[in-house]
Amino acid sequence: MKIIVSSLYLLLLTSTQVFSQAPPTYTSAEILLQLKKLNTLASVLYVAAHPDDENTRLMAYFAKEKLYRTGYLSMTRGDGGQNLIGDEQGIELGLIRTQELMAARRIDGAEQFFTRAYDFGFSKTTEEAMRIWEKDKILADVVWVIRRFQPDVIVTRFPEDSRAGHGQHSASAVLAHEAFKAAADPNVFPEQLKYGVKPWQAKRIVWNTFNFGGNNTTSNDQLNFDVGVYNPVIGKSYGEIAAESRSLHKSQGFGVARSRGQQLEFFTPVEGTPASGNLFDGINTNWGRVTGGEKIQLMIDQLVSSFSITNPEKSVPGLLNLYKEILKLPEGFWKQQKLKEVESLIEECSALWLECTTNTPYATRGDSLRFNFYLINRLLPNVSIKRIAVDGFDTTMNQPLVTNRVTTFAKSIPVPLTKPLTQPYWLENDMSEGSFNVSDQALIGNPESKPAYEIGFTVTIDGQDFTLTRPLQFKTTDPVKGEIYQPLTIIPEVTGRFEPALLVLNSNDAKNFEVITRKQSKYVNGIKTSVVNTGNVNVKAEGNTSNGVSNYKANRVKANNEIDDARLLFNNNGKMDDAQELRTISYEHIPRIDYFVRPKLKLVIADIKTVGKRIGYIEGAGDKVADALRQMGYEVVMLNERNITPANLKQFDAVISGIRAYNVHAWLVDKYEILMDYVKEGGNYIVQYNTSNLPASVSAKIGPYPFVIANKRITDEKAKVNFTKPAHPVLNFPNKITSADFENWIQERGIYFADKQDSKYESIFSMQDPGESPLDGSLIIADYGRGKFVYTGVVFFRELPAGVPGAYRLMANIIALNYKKAF
Ligand SMILES: [Zn+2]
Repeated sequence: MKIIVSSLYLLLLTSTQVFSQAPPTYTSAEILLQLKKLNTLASVLYVAAHPDDENTRLMAYFAKEKLYRTGYLSMTRGDGGQNLIGDEQGIELGLIRTQELMAARRIDGAEQFFTRAYDFGFSKTTEEAMRIWEKDKILADVVWVIRRFQPDVIVTRFPEDSRAGHGQHSASAVLAHEAFKAAADPNVFPEQLKYGVKPWQAKRIVWNTFNFGGNNTTSNDQLNFDVGVYNPVIGKSYGEIAAESRSLHKSQGFGVARSRGQQLEFFTPVEGTPASGNLFDGINTNWGRVTGGEKIQLMIDQLVSSFSITNPEKSVPGLLNLYKEILKLPEGFWKQQKLKEVESLIEECSALWLECTTNTPYATRGDSLRFNFYLINRLLPNVSIKRIAVDGFDTTMNQPLVTNRVTTFAKSIPVPLTKPLTQPYWLENDMSEGSFNVSDQALIGNPESKPAYEIGFTVTIDGQDFTLTRPLQFKTTDPVKGEIYQPLTIIPEVTGRFEPALLVLNSNDAKNFEVITRKQSKYVNGIKTSVVNTGNVNVKAEGNTSNGVSNYKANRVKANNEIDDARLLFNNNGKMDDAQELRTISYEHIPRIDYFVRPKLKLVIADIKTVGKRIGYIEGAGDKVADALRQMGYEVVMLNERNITPANLKQFDAVISGIRAYNVHAWLVDKYEILMDYVKEGGNYIVQYNTSNLPASVSAKIGPYPFVIANKRITDEKAKVNFTKPAHPVLNFPNKITSADFENWIQERGIYFADKQDSKYESIFSMQDPGESPLDGSLIIADYGRGKFVYTGVVFFRELPAGVPGAYRLMANIIALNYKKAF
């Protein structure tokens, strides 16, 4: 389980906590808005690259003021961003940001879609993003979402050129533009048509121009309108709703203030019939677009004008009639869409509550699971439950649901051995470099997997049957937080993992590690495990297994710097299978996230010479650097506000600050004198990157001489690294650093480089991204008193956990900078 340690996170918690899994309830005001929405047959799809790119104010305005069906298609799940609330990176960060986006959509009323594109980190060009994503694969997904969603208007956040500021941003606009045409062409991605979609031509595609980051692309001759209006039915203006939605992007630190009053949004045509005056100019947005729909329009007008705030159930007979009339219409997209909306309204107007929960967060294949049913109809006189259907259990009944009386019952159902593990669908297959691989076309575009169990409740209201679907959820009551709903996760009979999961094997090292297995089912007897590696290391079992812990030893057998992975197998009915490791990410603003990985022990064979022993580590926004330092043989002491004192610092050969420490700890500013005195007395203070931009830009003094932190980076992880000071100790002692040490890096070389540094700093490297000028601020070092001060944007926080040998050797040299006997 994840323990929340960041103090910033506490600041970000708002008073209106979202227990996002609790089933929603509806006020009459919300019902009235939905009733009105029945008469709007229009849809708009917003397209950008990442969670947080979307214009939540505009989307809330579309969804709740104009009552359009509104969608946001994000190319990626934001896997490559920075995490302000914990140490999750990559796919784990993508899992968090997916749920943050879902939480935001519950507030602004839009629907969420994704392509299979992986956010591989900052990209300077469209071309690079397209190449790594495999353009055709992602274009197919954008086309697929358009064909499913059938938007009348497509809105891009970004332009197709470098004004977008990020190669993935401009790529999202290029893909949206190409897909606008391709989705209408039956000869493009024709295989999709087998899955129930048809070619779709949106009326127009526009770019929602912006004025931020010192870049104003709006102008008064562009189509513009005010989205800052106040909605009295909701009691908020769209600037307020947008802030609540956007502030759920907590891992990005995107909490924003609620804005009120006029807010103009600007649009410029990209393709399709240009709009004049109104974005939906020339588009029929009412029932006139459906054959035979005129009558429906009038019925809905009548329902809206007769709606009773105090007795919403009085609308139910009218809604039932409406439902029957819509059923008579010819088959079509809007018929199905509006039937779903009417079903929800009937349920909301009758204050129907259908719930199925269980008292455990995890269910094991082969065990049985208790389903607790809890049903109540709080307003209507004549409702009954006719049928309940769930995997392997299907009951027909005819049980009246008496007004405002609870009906409960329970049932135990076996979980079959063949039940799939609960896994986010995009992580089921191994991924490619820049995209996920999904076997089931029907899942592509979906924000998340279906729940482990879905229950179909067929209820009869005034003789009309409806089937409403609910997920099975884990429900519990916490003495502090109150009632909590969480997902239910299906887990295998045995789970296993390596402890630690990363071993650094220095020259002639042998290191112990443990295999920890856990019986998840009472039917499992002995667990037989086996560890295999690919040959650079010898792995041997040592001693016996007890309480699920087996001891192993890894011996290095190769001389070269290598990375190897050992796999964990376990006996599954007589055959050795890859074990599954259960990983859980738990934060309060989103539902618990579980996923499975094949356990891997990363074995890093690296010749690392170290000097110095004790390191003080100031925890920053969250990274795994301290664990890597321990693997190198250092003793690491964690430092915080209280123990950064002159006396305590004396013991350390080096003090290292974690990533973005100055962004997240305001108190670090007050430690400046203490840290500089430590350096002056012969210490070595190493500052890893901090950001220069929002949410918390660093204005603090960090080093002994001036430098600024710039938003400058080297995104090409293969970029050539030139040694501008080849004789500098950092490149020679105790390890001789060569170009080989910069092989096999991942994602990037460095971010947030030092800039405008004082001449007392020495710049060690010069690096250059394709087509750009060289940068010299990745690693700067200064003498101060008898010690050293270092600022580095080199991404040690990525490369060390990834096991890159050269990153370990360079870090050892930085730590050795103040070693007295060296020179
Ligand atoms: Zn973005």
